Amino acid sequence: MKINVAELKRQKTDITNFSGELLLDNLYEDSALVKYNLNLKVVGNEVIATGRIITKVKLKCVRCLKNFYQDVDTEFETSYLEEEDYNEYLKLEEAEHFFNSDEIVREKISGNEIDIDKLFREYILLEITEYPICDVNCNGIEEIELYSKNEEIDPRWNQLLNITKK
Ligand SMILES: [Zn+2]
Repeated sequence: MKINVAELKRQKTDITNFSGELLLDNLYEDSALVKYNLNLKVVGNEVIATGRIITKVKLKCVRCLKNFYQDVDTEFETSYLEEEDYNEYLKLEEAEHFFNSDEIVREKISGNEIDIDKLFREYILLEITEYPICDVNCNGIEEIELYSKNEEIDPRWNQLLNITKK
């Protein structure tokens, strides 16, 4: 979903609300259906996007390699700036080691559009750990079972047993 900024600015209301569902492709192991509530507020040349997203993300456990789902329910706040303002903001941040104390994420408006899919994707990625685990107790069980079975039938022991029988 993309929002046209010029159209948004033409709206008479301060805040424009969007809600519904959208499908994000290629999110880890599968696509994900995202329920969203999105408010876009125009403040001068700036557009502030706030809201909430709820989804389930299909992941692969790094220990047992099985797929599992993780619930994601997160809020977001991102400020979109016109290219000129954005560059100005970057300069300020660089030159004065300006501390962004409000912790609002700032993005550039590109091609007069706000890319909502990209916004949601980025906030979902923040919720997923680098090494997802299906369960805190997951030991990657199959490998351990295989190892212990091999020990039971260690061929060296069989050979020894055969020798003593003779
Ligand atoms: Zn696992």
